[in-house]
Parts: sequence; structure tokens; C-alpha cells
Amino acid sequence: MEKIRKPRGTMDIFSPESDIWVYVEEKMREVARRFGFTEVRTPTFEEIGLFKRGVGDTTDVVQKEMYAFEDKDGSVFALRPEGTASVVRAIIENGKTSDPMPLKYYYIINCFRYEKPQAGRSREFSQFGIEMFGASGAAADFTSISLANALLRELGIQGIKLHINSIGCPECRPAYREKLIEYLNERRDSLCDTCKERLEMNPLRVLDCKNDECRKIAEGAPKSVDNLCTECKAHMDTLINMLDSCGIDYVIDTKIVRGLDYYTKTVFEFICDGIGAQSTVCGGGRYDGLMEQLGGPSLPGIGFGMGITRLIMAMKQSGAYLPEREPLSLYVAPLGDRASIESQRIVTELRDAGVRAECDIMNRSLKAQMKYADKLGARYALIIGDSELESGVAVIKNMQTSEQTEIKISDAADFIRKSM
Ligand code: ATP
Ligand code: MG
Repeated sequence: MEKIRKPRGTMDIFSPESDIWVYVEEKMREVARRFGFTEVRTPTFEEIGLFKRGVGDTTDVVQKEMYAFEDKDGSVFALRPEGTASVVRAIIENGKTSDPMPLKYYYIINCFRYEKPQAGRSREFSQFGIEMFGASGAAADFTSISLANALLRELGIQGIKLHINSIGCPECRPAYREKLIEYLNERRDSLCDTCKERLEMNPLRVLDCKNDECRKIAEGAPKSVDNLCTECKAHMDTLINMLDSCGIDYVIDTKIVRGLDYYTKTVFEFICDGIGAQSTVCGGGRYDGLMEQLGGPSLPGIGFGMGITRLIMAMKQSGAYLPEREPLSLYVAPLGDRASIESQRIVTELRDAGVRAECDIMNRSLKAQMKYADKLGARYALIIGDSELESGVAVIKNMQTSEQTEIKISDAADFIRKSM
């Protein structure tokens, strides 16, 4: 029969790789908690209109990458391509806008985008993200950057750099946009085909095109940071002062504009050289108009999304600590039915005490059991047969030294707990 394979651009993850994922996700939750964020969970799919309005009709994500489907009643849904739009919808729908400000949420979610799969880019991917609403000042921008920075540092990632930029607000961006369009129009013929389209719809995106010719043109383009209004300029200066005073390294990168339409003022990326072409591990920024655009009150927002696959790639290439499975403290090898019951009693006692312990459930021979215990990396093995049950004394074997000692079966669990 023909084998069924996973969809292109998706992943199957087993241990030891999944142990790294668990460790990274635990770290994310721990750091987010320390910063006062709580977890929010929203549906994997939403009405397609949410993403059209919330991500932007002109973006690649909405135009080319969305997994959309019709439900049995004719409604059209899409698998979420990102997290922000859903969180904003949920805040509005659940009346969270009357909670004390700022609102601070984090999530760990799978996202779906129909993209060309390659290293660091898949069709289903996981993202850690945070959202903060209600705080308009640069201190909020700093808090999100600082959270991402703390996480990246604590995961042992090296050679990662914070790139920041400001793309202005509805006050100053239109004039800048005109200037940019004028400059790009003069060089239109040298732009790649996609950028020719972007020039009409979303000219700022030309600045982050990866095409060589477009890059050269972007080098000489007018910079948004040179065209900010007084408020946007002051916002950026304050953020920079905070980064400086807290010792967070950054570069001002005028080509960072972010892929999604809704950004205002601060945009930022953490970029890690050495993990290949898909080097942006974390991307975020401010979106002061988004809540209103989705039918809520006018509440300023900021947040970021961090791709977990790229994060783990960066950890590996940094030689960062990678977790190992919790060691197996005891393997109990029973011979016979009565011994099997006794061995269940011992492992239950240990597991209840938080210790990893296992015993045979396959009715294997002693030899096969010892081989298996060795494969599992057990530190001790306890062998129990009928005569051991009779005398209440069994042999416990230190699997590293092969040293064997006699022990009262009733003391075995205690012995293991004390040996840890
Ligand atoms: P990119 O420039 O890589 O296309 P993006 O601007 O589309 O990224 P965002 O929508 O801001 O990315 O998503 C935030 C983060 O999620 C990215 O920085 C990246 O780490 C990760 N990410 C985005 N798309 C993918 C994907 N297809 N596969 C794996 N990770 C992804
Ligand atoms: Mg993308």
C-alpha cells in the first residue's frame, strides 16, 4: 500500500529534539511570567475577514500564503498565519479593554503559511509571541524588547543582534511615503518584479527585499528615521536611551520595515547570522491603529513574534545548553507475576515522589530486561524473583560500576531517593 506522508513543509518531532522544544517552551513561559504576562489561547482558525483586516490585504501573507477553507455552512475561515489579529479580536470580544491597563498577554502557537519550505521556513511553524495594549510610551517598546532579549540570552544564544527602526505614524509617514515613491519610481526599471508591485501597494516593503539590485537601491533611499515628526522622534530617542542605560546592544537599521501592514513607530528584529538565509529569529513592533481597525477602542499596542524553529537553530549553532531527558533512576526487573506486582508498587512510590522509575511490562527474560535497562541509561536496576519476595531481600545493581549489593526490597525506593 502506498505510504501516507506528512504535508510538505510540516514537521514530526521526536525525542531528543522534542525535549529541546519542551525546554524552550518552559523557558518562554517562565520569562513571560517574570515580566507579568499571562497566557492567552485563541482558536487555530478564524473568519478570513479578521486576517484580511488585521494583517493587511496587501501583504504576501494574506494574498498568497493563507490556508483558507469553506465550512459546511459556507462561511470562509483561515488557519491563523500569525497571532496578533486573533488576540486583538479576543480582547475586544471578551471585553478585556475594561481591564486595568496595560494588557499583557503571551502565547505559544502554531501558525500556517503557504510558503516555499526551506531551512527556517515551513508551512506550519511555531511562534512565541507577546502582545501589550494600552501603553503608548517608549517604555512599553522597551519592555517587549527587553523580554525578548532576556529570553534569547537565557537560552544561551550568541551572535544575535537587535535591529531597530522607526517607520513613523499617520502624522509623518504619508509625506515620507511620497518621498520614497518618488525615489523608487526614478529607479523603477531596476527593481525586481515583486518590488514593482510593492511600489504600488506597499512601497516601504521594497526596503526589505532580498534581491541584490533592490538592496542597492534601498541603500540610497530616503530613510524614515530622517523624516519623523517630533513625537515619533522623541519616542525613538527615549527607547534608545533606555536600551543604552540597560546595556542592550542594537543597531539602527533603516531597512527594517516588517512584513505586516499594521506597524507604526518602532519596528525591530533580532537577527542571528549563521543560521542561513532565514536569519530573523524575532520580529516585532508597535501597532497603534490595529485595535481600532478591528472594531475596538483606540488602544496603542506593541508586541513580537519569535519563530521557535529558528530559535532552536540559533541555540544549536551557539553551542547553547540543550536539555537531556531526565535520567532513569531505577529500573525494576521482575520475574514472575507476584514480582511484577511488587515492582509496580516500587515504581509507583518513586514516581509519586517525583522520581523517574520504570519496570518491565513486557514479560521479558532477565537478560533482555537488563539489556533494555542499559539502553534506557538506568542508574540502578533491582532484580526481584520469587526467592527475593520470600526473603524480602534483593540485589540492586549500580549500572555504571556493575557493583551489586543486597538490599531489603522495602528499603529500595528510599535508597534510590537518597542516592539522587
Ligand atoms: P520572514 O521575513 O522570515 O518571512 P515575517 O516577516 O513573515 O518573516 P512575522 O510574520 O513577523 O515574520 O513572524 C515572526 C517570526 O516568525 C519570524 O521572525 C520568524 O522567526 C517566524 N516565521 C515567520 N514565518 C515563518 C515560517 N514560514 N516558518 C518558520 N518560521 C517563520
Ligand atoms: Mg514572511
